[in-house]
Amino acid sequence: MTESPISSASNAILDVQSNIKAAAQRAKRNIDDINLIAVSKTRSLEQITPLLEQGHRHYGENRVQEAMEKWPALKARYQDVTLHCIGQLQSNKVADAIAIFDVIHSLDRMSLLKALAREMEKAGKYIPCFLQVNIGGEKQKGGCAVDDIGSLLETAVNANIPIIGLMCIPPADIEAAPFFALMSKLAKQYDLSHLSMGMSSDYEVAITIGATYVRVGTALFGPRA
Ligand SMILES: *Cc1c(COP(=O)(O)O)cnc(C)c1O
Repeated sequence: MTESPISSASNAILDVQSNIKAAAQRAKRNIDDINLIAVSKTRSLEQITPLLEQGHRHYGENRVQEAMEKWPALKARYQDVTLHCIGQLQSNKVADAIAIFDVIHSLDRMSLLKALAREMEKAGKYIPCFLQVNIGGEKQKGGCAVDDIGSLLETAVNANIPIIGLMCIPPADIEAAPFFALMSKLAKQYDLSHLSMGMSSDYEVAITIGATYVRVGTALFGPRA
C-alpha cells in the first residue's frame, strides 16, 4: 500500500521531532533551544499545508522567486510562520527577500552584506541573519572563508544588520561531526548564540554538537523530484 504524500509528511514530522528530542536528551540540552526548519523548497502547498495545520511554524526555502509564489497566501493564513531563506542570495533579489523572509541563513559575502544593509534601511526592517561559512573550504561552494568571519561581522555590526549565528553545509559524503565541532568553536569565539547546521542525514549529530536550527527536507517530505 502506498501512502499519500500528505499523510506521510504528517507522520514523518512526529518521528523527526522525537529524534530531535532524543538527541537533545543525550546531549543534556534544552529542547526549547532547538528549532526544526521544515525545508519546503520544491514542495507543493498540498504537501506543506498539513504541517501548518499540525502547528509547525518554521519553514525554509532556497529561492526568492519560489518563496514569493508560495508563501504570501500561506503567511496570510498562518500569521506566526517564520520563513527562513536557506539558499544563495543574489544582491538584486535582496529587496524581495527582505519582504518575504523572516530570517536569512546565507549571508556570505561583503557585496551581499552591503545590499542587505541598504535594503533593510530602506524597508525599516532589520531581520536576523546567519553568516554562512564554507566550513570545508570547498571551491564552488557558498559561504565565506573562516578567515573572513571577523571582518564580515564587524561590517555587519556597523551596518545594523543583526547577525545571530553561523550556518554551514558541510562537505558531502564524509563525516560531518568534525565540521560541526569547528562551527561550534567559531560561534563561541565570536560570541554568537545560534548555529544553523544539520540536514536530513545528520541533524541528530548536529544537535549533539550544538545546533539551534536544523534544516530538514527529505526526512519530512521524501526525496525531491
Ligand atoms: C535542501 C536543503 C536542506 C534540506 O536538505 P535535506 O537533505 O532534504 O534534508 C537543508 N539546507 C539547505 C541549505 C538546503 O538547500
